[in-house]
Amino acid sequence: MKVLKFGGTSVGSVENMYAVMKLIADGKKKLVVLSAMSGTTNALVEIADYLHKKNKDGARVHINKLEDTYKAVVQLLYKKEESKKAGAAIVGDAFDTIKRLTSGEFSDAGEKTILAQGELISTGLFTRLMLENGYNAKLLPALDYMVIDADKAADIQAITRNIARVLEEEGDATYYVTQGYICRNSLGEIDNLQRGGSDYSASLIGAAVGAEEVQIWTDIDGFHNNDPRYVSNTRKIDQLSFNEAAELAYFGAKILHPQTVLPARLHNIPVRLKNTMNPTDSGTLITARSSGSGIKAVAAKDGITAVKVRSYRMLMAYGFLKNIFEIFEFFKTPIDMISTSEVAVSLSIDNTGKLDDIVRELKEYGEVEVDKDQSIICIVGDIIAEEKGFAAKVFTALEGIPIRMISYGGSRYNISVLVPTVHKQKTLQALSDHLLNIENQSK
Ligand code: ADP
Ligand code: ASP
Ligand code: MG
Repeated sequence: MKVLKFGGTSVGSVENMYAVMKLIADGKKKLVVLSAMSGTTNALVEIADYLHKKNKDGARVHINKLEDTYKAVVQLLYKKEESKKAGAAIVGDAFDTIKRLTSGEFSDAGEKTILAQGELISTGLFTRLMLENGYNAKLLPALDYMVIDADKAADIQAITRNIARVLEEEGDATYYVTQGYICRNSLGEIDNLQRGGSDYSASLIGAAVGAEEVQIWTDIDGFHNNDPRYVSNTRKIDQLSFNEAAELAYFGAKILHPQTVLPARLHNIPVRLKNTMNPTDSGTLITARSSGSGIKAVAAKDGITAVKVRSYRMLMAYGFLKNIFEIFEFFKTPIDMISTSEVAVSLSIDNTGKLDDIVRELKEYGEVEVDKDQSIICIVGDIIAEEKGFAAKVFTALEGIPIRMISYGGSRYNISVLVPTVHKQKTLQALSDHLLNIENQSK
């Protein structure tokens, strides 16, 4: 069985929902994972924001606006009166839940319940659309099988057990439709896999059912060698290895949620990226195989903070690094990049929730400097196979850009530099021009 995930734009309008239905309806059994219609999760985040700020009137204006949009979708989506009624009930249930949460104290659990409504609506409406058109479709509720543990990590063993049970309970169908992004946490509350998490849902489901392939259908023809939102001359990559794709996704390539590749790599399930608007294009295939050598692609991760600790002693004392790392570990804050000198260490983090506590503790060991608004630029490929002088090429390309940190040699697939975010676009474009599109230049 294949698992096919369709993102927000792919199901973002009535026409697109019809296009997805036609695309999947080939009579072959499959599991279809859907995001919320595009713009919905952002609108729900905004509503939750109003409620956190105790601005109930502001929240209600946005709730009513979103509800009106969905009422219009229901009228356009279905032909039969009974389907329109069923669609209206799906939308009504979701908005009743949201409105209920506008009274009383608003909690984080309330926020997560609101954020879940986008996927609950899109999958409900889409399943009904398939049924109206005579297809044998069934809705699998993700909240019945997708779970994360107390550390917010996906519990793949529990997901595998749960989904087998839910599939058994629901009985046979050709098209199983399910929600991406949403899950339950260790307290049994509604939670989610973070923004963009539907990709991760698809690969977790793929691993849980032992899928032959996981397909991520989106609004672009595949993985590009640079971020098309910032760089003009990007090109699609036909093939990537799990390791290369994992590094690029982790370091900011928005086309894939950062953790998507991990379950697929573990179970050796090919991941194919495809364009819903251009389905005949072969897209990008991600497998264990690495094809070609040299530099494949560049990605950028924003919102990074650099922390430098200069030891109070002149020389790097024995145990200094251990003490520093323990502070980050204690505050459950992962470190992305590290570079050291004899007397100082620089680290980069993206979760600054505990930054004040971390800085306070670090000051016991040295002077601390914090630089916010940095971006990690990650250059991925089979870098070892690249001819000697690669680092020189990178430095030449980045001439004039103030590099805050550089990390080289940690992995054969990745070299990363940290630059102030104001220089991100220039850095990405320079790497594109000097490292990725050299053949173009010489033509
Ligand atoms: P979906 O809603 O289908 O999940 P996303 O917006 O999350 O889609 O991801 C697709 C978008 O990711 C593309 O439209 C593109 O702008 C952006 N993107 C960023 N980096 C890359 C990249 N390296 N290759 C392709 N797309 C990228
Ligand atoms: N709807 C969620 C989001 O916008 C999840 C996803 O689209 O993958 O973040
Ligand atoms: Mg996405």
